[in-house]
Amino acid sequence: MSKESRKFKVPDALANVYDFANTQDVRHFTHFGVEHPQSDELGGPKQLADWMQERGLGRDAGRVTPAMFETALRLREALRAYLQCEPAERRRNKDVLGALDDALAPFPLRVEARAGRGAILSAARVDALAGLSTIAIELHDATLLGTLDRLKMCASEECRRVFFDRSKPSTRRWCMSTLCGNRMKTRAYRERQREAK
Ligand SMILES: [Zn+2]
Repeated sequence: MSKESRKFKVPDALANVYDFANTQDVRHFTHFGVEHPQSDELGGPKQLADWMQERGLGRDAGRVTPAMFETALRLREALRAYLQCEPAERRRNKDVLGALDDALAPFPLRVEARAGRGAILSAARVDALAGLSTIAIELHDATLLGTLDRLKMCASEECRRVFFDRSKPSTRRWCMSTLCGNRMKTRAYRERQREAK
């Protein structure tokens, strides 16, 4: 979990998936005259190692290699593409599912009996990338809990922030309706006005 996941009340069981997907910030809207700067928390292998360390996912198992870093970026790309689909589409979009399945393949899991926890999933990898297996574990657990469908990507193409939908009917489309929702509605209104002329 992180400050961001706490602030937006993301369940702890999905906090790493949420943070990992949002390490890529592609927001480029203008708010109060200032354009939001795009950024990537995972600029290279070292940043990935630091990111895992900050979340207690680090392993004392050597350094993150460039190949491991590529594996991590592929997982993030496939995860973001999956979250961009509406929940109903996620179950039938074979391209998106296939890409996520391929991207998860390097993160095999095992069932581990652990004191105080019972039998839980844990990483089968033992190298520097093992900690990222927590993404696979959280996706699995959230599927069982039914909370994965509530993790969505903002429908605004200027935003694409991943958010957790806490609304009762689970129909939210924007990370913040006051910002992204209004911006999209204003634009749709202007477009309609233009077409009507
Ligand atoms: Zn948004």
